[in-house]
Amino acid sequence: MNNIIEDTEIIITTKKKNDVKNCEHDRISKFKTQSSLKNYFREIIDKIGVCDSIQSKYPNEFLDFCEVFKRHSDYPEKFIGLTDIKINYNPEFKNQLVVYIIKNNGEIDNVSVLNNCISGKPKDYLKIAMRVSIQPQIDEYKNNNHIRVCELCGEHNRIEIDHHSVKTPFNKLYNDFISINSSQKLPNTFDDTQGHIKCFREIDNNFQEKWIEYHKENAILRMLCRACNGSQPKYKINKLLY
Ligand SMILES: [Zn+2]
Repeated sequence: MNNIIEDTEIIITTKKKNDVKNCEHDRISKFKTQSSLKNYFREIIDKIGVCDSIQSKYPNEFLDFCEVFKRHSDYPEKFIGLTDIKINYNPEFKNQLVVYIIKNNGEIDNVSVLNNCISGKPKDYLKIAMRVSIQPQIDEYKNNNHIRVCELCGEHNRIEIDHHSVKTPFNKLYNDFISINSSQKLPNTFDDTQGHIKCFREIDNNFQEKWIEYHKENAILRMLCRACNGSQPKYKINKLLY
């Protein structure tokens, strides 16, 4: 099981390299504390105010938002397919501005920029690219199962697709796949999707295809409501260390 430890180190090292290499937009790294980062985004949101397209009207701020989204606890799943960002008043508390992401399938979702994004940490690029690669399988599952009901509580609202948290949590599939392929060089440079999410480059097609196939064979997907999904136990890497 030493492989796991070594792989983790490799990922950390490649990530550092990437940070240097892919720093074309690194305006938020100058904020050394969470409170200064939070103040910066509070000022941006107040300055922009209600806006239906940050991408076209505030391109620099659009990149800042894409950058801070990387710290969100549901990154990248929540953000895959992002094409634009808008700001509008909270429908319940009318004096509060809310940041929304707009996706290429027309979905609109709110993002807690000033809380979740500020306190979170960015994830490693390899894991993000692996998430992006299997999104078509998640969409396919969603499209093939029209009855949306939570497997655990029977709820019909706010249904999400879960990598079965007990049998095949995403992090387990990720760790197992990496350790099976530990003898080969892992991808360490990436492209960006339209929404500035890391994805695989063409030279890593082989690795990506292998992963997509592995995920198709092993992942057990199910529907859970947001509440049940959020309260599932988190898979811990140290389960693998014995
Ligand atoms: Zn439920």
